[in-house]
Amino acid sequence: MAGVFDIVTTDGFEQVAYFHDQATRLRAIVAIHSTALGPSLGGTRFYPYASEDDALVDVCRLARSMTYKHAVCGNDLGGGKAVIIGDPATMRSEALLRAYGRFVEGLSGRYITAEDVGTTQADMDLIHRETPHVTGVSMSLGGSGDPSPATAWGVLWAMKAVAERLWGTPSLAGRHVCVSGVGKVGSALVAHLADEGAKVTVSDVRKEAAELAVDQYGAVAVGPEAAHTVACDIFSPCALGSVLNSTTIPELRCDAVVGSANNQLASPADAERLRHRGVVYAPDFVANAGGVINIAEEPHGYDHARAYDRIASIHDTLLQMFERADVDGITTAAAADRLAEERIASVSHTRLIRTGR
Ligand code: NAD
Repeated sequence: MAGVFDIVTTDGFEQVAYFHDQATRLRAIVAIHSTALGPSLGGTRFYPYASEDDALVDVCRLARSMTYKHAVCGNDLGGGKAVIIGDPATMRSEALLRAYGRFVEGLSGRYITAEDVGTTQADMDLIHRETPHVTGVSMSLGGSGDPSPATAWGVLWAMKAVAERLWGTPSLAGRHVCVSGVGKVGSALVAHLADEGAKVTVSDVRKEAAELAVDQYGAVAVGPEAAHTVACDIFSPCALGSVLNSTTIPELRCDAVVGSANNQLASPADAERLRHRGVVYAPDFVANAGGVINIAEEPHGYDHARAYDRIASIHDTLLQMFERADVDGITTAAAADRLAEERIASVSHTRLIRTGR
């Protein structure tokens, strides 16, 4: 296992902070990958990691991907993420979350937190009592609420960009979309697809979730293991990561993959596998950026219409990315990385221009 400084230096991290509070048994790590574009923002994952090393590797991987996500979707924010080590079911308490909030406050705004796996909006409200550097708090506290509907709106616009590229029109009417995972994001996406006049197939390990989509929107349900093999126009992974791998990619029978799940590619080589098969891939961190675009609007005084207009711009971002992939002869995933890195470099450069502040 590499040491903290090995990780920090190889991947260019700015800061990794460890927090501990004996009374509440809080053990947390905040990783700030980059503040080149603005303060780092990313969720707090509350998870029973098997070891401290696992927690460190995960928080660093997640923080780095936030840098790219913010950069590519035009946010003036940097990449950061936090983990609280432990089982939220047994460890969550007001005191623990407020202790965590005080540590976040101690970073003076270099890191802004948000909800993630294992944390809730109610948790963010508690953290907010100790620090203003938290987003995703309740609407009554000036927040934007649950980001899932915003994420689904962004995935819809990503699908429209793919439709434009493949079929020359953003319309999804009559197109067949298979949504794997109809939880918070997937179910909202199915509602949009039904509005668009698309034909929808769904799958979920929770039978009742799939049945709800069948009853409400006339979707057809298939078993979770078969979802990626459904013959359709767009396959939409909205459940777990690593769903695109050397086993599943040869079995795909779709023209495109556009979904909300994080880390859809099991390895970087899978982007090339998709390209080789002629499947258009909307990079996950672009397609699912609706939630962070929504949250990024909070510090300016949250306005729903303004936020949703910005989220729809995922459509234009993706078209630009597809063009870049064509011109450079690279995968769409590599094109997304390049565009993010170029924006970080060019916008950071403007900081060299002295202002009155
Ligand atoms: P969720 O937990 O509400 O929904 C996930 C759904 O997938 C659940 O209904 C679950 O039963 C189902 N599922 C689990 N394993 C499955 C499998 N093997 N096959 C089919 N279904 C399966 O989560 P969510 O908030 O809707 O997020 C979905 C994905 O999108 C996650 O990967 C998440 O990290 C990512 N994401 C979410 C947001 C957001 O705003 N919620 C933002 C960005 C990315």
